[in-house]
Amino acid sequence: MHLVRVALDVPLPTLFDYRLEHTRRELIGARVLVPFGRGQRAGIILEVGGQPEVPPERIKRVAHVFADEAPLAPDVLQLMRFASRYYQHPIGQVVMGALPQALRRAHASRDASGRVVLTAAALAADWSTLPARALARRRVLEHLRAHGPCTPALVRSLASTAPRALRDLMADGWVAFEEAVPPGLEERVAHAATPGPALTAEQAEALEAIGGTLGRFTAWLLLGVTGSGKTEVYLRLIERVLARGGQVLVLVPEINLTPQLEARLAARFPGASLAGLHSGVPEAERLRRWRAAESGRASVLVGTRLAVFTPLPRLALIVVDEEHDASLKQQEGLRYSARDLAVLRAKQRQVPVVLGSATPSLESYAKALAGRYRLTHLSGRVSSQLPSIRCVDTRAQRLREGLSPALIDALARGLAASEQSLVFVNRRGYAPALLCFACGWSAPCPRCSARLVLHLGAARLRCHYCGHEELVTRACPSCGNLDLTPAGQGTQRIEYALAQLFPAARILRIDRDTTRSRRAFEQMRQRVQDHEVDILVGTQMLAKGHDFPRLTLVGVINADGALYSTDFRAAEKLFAQLTQVAGRAGRRDAAGEVLIQTQFPGHPLYRAVQRQDYAAFAQLALTERREAGFPPYAHQVLLRAEAPQREVVERFLGRAAHAGGRLGFRVEVYDPVPAPVARVAGRERGHLLVQSTSRNELQRFLAAWIPQLSDREARRVRWALDVDPLDL
Ligand code: ADP
Ligand code: ZN
Ligand code: ZN
Repeated sequence: MHLVRVALDVPLPTLFDYRLEHTRRELIGARVLVPFGRGQRAGIILEVGGQPEVPPERIKRVAHVFADEAPLAPDVLQLMRFASRYYQHPIGQVVMGALPQALRRAHASRDASGRVVLTAAALAADWSTLPARALARRRVLEHLRAHGPCTPALVRSLASTAPRALRDLMADGWVAFEEAVPPGLEERVAHAATPGPALTAEQAEALEAIGGTLGRFTAWLLLGVTGSGKTEVYLRLIERVLARGGQVLVLVPEINLTPQLEARLAARFPGASLAGLHSGVPEAERLRRWRAAESGRASVLVGTRLAVFTPLPRLALIVVDEEHDASLKQQEGLRYSARDLAVLRAKQRQVPVVLGSATPSLESYAKALAGRYRLTHLSGRVSSQLPSIRCVDTRAQRLREGLSPALIDALARGLAASEQSLVFVNRRGYAPALLCFACGWSAPCPRCSARLVLHLGAARLRCHYCGHEELVTRACPSCGNLDLTPAGQGTQRIEYALAQLFPAARILRIDRDTTRSRRAFEQMRQRVQDHEVDILVGTQMLAKGHDFPRLTLVGVINADGALYSTDFRAAEKLFAQLTQVAGRAGRRDAAGEVLIQTQFPGHPLYRAVQRQDYAAFAQLALTERREAGFPPYAHQVLLRAEAPQREVVERFLGRAAHAGGRLGFRVEVYDPVPAPVARVAGRERGHLLVQSTSRNELQRFLAAWIPQLSDREARRVRWALDVDPLDL
């Protein structure tokens, strides 16, 4: 029997068998339409041939092969298979989830830019060998020979059986689908880039080192302080790749970072075809760009996580910017690290990958120290000094709404000099809690083990975990006290306080509440750029990679919390965040100043931030991790579970722990614990950590363990595995 095995978007870790008349290995990666349940679904053929796993009479036929779409490239399929195996996610969901929406649907993708052409095989073949009854096939071939490449729609209209004939001819390799290439593309690619600035000695050195590895796999860690010109190094590398006709994949952690980068790329390479791929791009446009990358028409693809799966036939370089950023790890469904997959992809394709950051993840840095990645440094800023960073001891000061006199002074000086300032508060809303000082009550979320956050404007209490909202209560429901106190500072409160202090200042708040619409962030960034803003108030959204030329002062409020967090990555995250946010200050000629308000001015972490000494911080942190046996010196998997009742979660995790412990692998199975926020939206959450010094051993353990998790009890809980988790 002619069998194909198809990946479908179904939560089962298996492929599905179907019959197909003309099976050929070339069909691997082809998109098909197959009957499934009562309807039809789109899927991708992953295997051809082999023995059916169900009785042959139960195997249905493939309904349609979307023959006018090129099959997915083998390297992409291989990457998807790896991701499915390594992150323990059903193969069909990995494959279909990585495609643009339009291709997950059960119909043709209606991308009419391509043409059907005769292949060399068809031209060399003797057409008289075709069976006499193959009239439609002859008709199609003759038409193509007479008229040259045609649209699939035209070919299909040649006869009532032409669609079928077209499919068969594609399956036999006589005709192929070719993406339309805009005329003159080659010359456009070859067009020189507009000149960039003369490189600094360090930049030139990094460029030569990395550029010397084009054409083979090398993983590079580009460790460069903020404003050291990392992006300029990427641009020069891209220039070299474009000159050789290659494609470049640039991954960034967040959609907000793409417009700035795209603009810089477009200015530097006016002739090259660039494509941005992220969730902000409308669906039809996304398909078009994906196709442009897949067909080789787009030379540079800038994208967020999912872009790592895009087919790129001439891929010659991968860049992962802000490689430490947690947003590069997907937090639901397929919980993959786009950075780690990017390194794997580079290895597959034998091309270099550059991981850039001012504060690399300790995982990547440890690999660089161990010689598995090559390290290259940019230690100084290009056009200004690093900012001076000072701690403001808040213990002995009277704060005004959380603002210290020192910070208020500095803001006043900035205003007088008409420079921009940024106040960084990592909490949105007005106040993180509404308290009753008479009895100790604080407004709780009824559905979560969390406090409600006070939001002004709407005068509501809002839960940041489940979205629950309620009106602000006037009196304490527990003791009747009428004097409830907003406790702590959120961005709204700081914005309000600044408006009181500096009535003439133009203040702009940037957080998730003010940037809900798609273009809001970009518009706000433009206003900052155009100097329509004096003081910015914002969350970590502002800390990442943005270049605000007029910004000279950064104030940091309420960062201390992370110092005594139970999360072993808290220090690493805080160091990165402070370094990034400090890095926004003084990026042009003016010297930057950073004030960190803290009750622990002598804390080693703040001292390392002040010295801007990543290497010293990392050495210290790595020593601690080694002693504690934490990543990167161990590999972790987290089994997350949730259910309406706590006992159900505990029983499930307890049994999972017990089963895991008995398997006899060299792994450490910890006791189940409640999640840090133990209840969200009425569901109790818990998790179980498994750890090993050997990645392979951990993977073998998972293969043996997972089948044991799906017992009858397991149906009552929602559970998921998180391999290499970032949040415990
Ligand atoms: P990073 O990516 O490390 O934060 P960028 O590449 O964005 O740094 O560079 C910071 C600023 O310095 C940018 O405005 C950039 O245009 C400028 N710049 C980069 N390299 C040079 C150079 N060699 N000479 C002059 N200016 C440069
Ligand atoms: Zn009370
Ligand atoms: Zn809630």
